Amino acid sequence: MHKIKVEDKEFEIFLENDTLSKRIRLMGIQINVDYEGKCPLFIGVLNGSFLFLADLVKEINIPCEVAFIRVASYQGTTSTGEIKELIGLPDDIEGRDIIIVEDIVDTGLTLTHILKMINEKNPASVKVSSLLLKPAALKYNIDALEYVGFEIPNEFVVGYGLDYNGLGRNLTDIYRATGV
Ligand code: 5GP
Repeated sequence: MHKIKVEDKEFEIFLENDTLSKRIRLMGIQINVDYEGKCPLFIGVLNGSFLFLADLVKEINIPCEVAFIRVASYQGTTSTGEIKELIGLPDDIEGRDIIIVEDIVDTGLTLTHILKMINEKNPASVKVSSLLLKPAALKYNIDALEYVGFEIPNEFVVGYGLDYNGLGRNLTDIYRATGV
């Protein structure tokens, strides 16, 4: 089995890039169908979503716009439970169809916070596209979570935008901690 080390932690291969690409293509097709005749605004949540967002919007064949916001709730491998301020939310989202793009939904705290702030600006609609979801970790009910790439076990993952202490975002595939 393909193993790597990121800083002090050992990881094993979990989702290869080819698997990610195929799933993202299908997610794109679904969004194209659902938003036909509209011009959605994709809002990527930095830093983790940057590769997923880039690959997802390449599959979009309807008019769309792209923006990024930034928040933080994680340090190391455990959630601090704190949400810092939301940075970079566009002013002109009133009446827009928003698709929030996340790398991973764990407890759902980050997303709940983001959804609250976006909904205060009266968009026409808000949906969420997350590459990964840990159903066993979810503590908040998120109705807007419409497009999920993969449901995964409650394990720490790294790669394809996701980091471990700032490292590993550049990995093409997604790896999971071996627990060693
Ligand atoms: P939540 O607020 O849903 O508990 O956490 C969401 C954020 O925590 C994600 O956007 C991501 O930054 C981070 N996170 C949660 N689980 C993981 C994981 O397994 N690996 C990495 N690298 N980050 C994670």
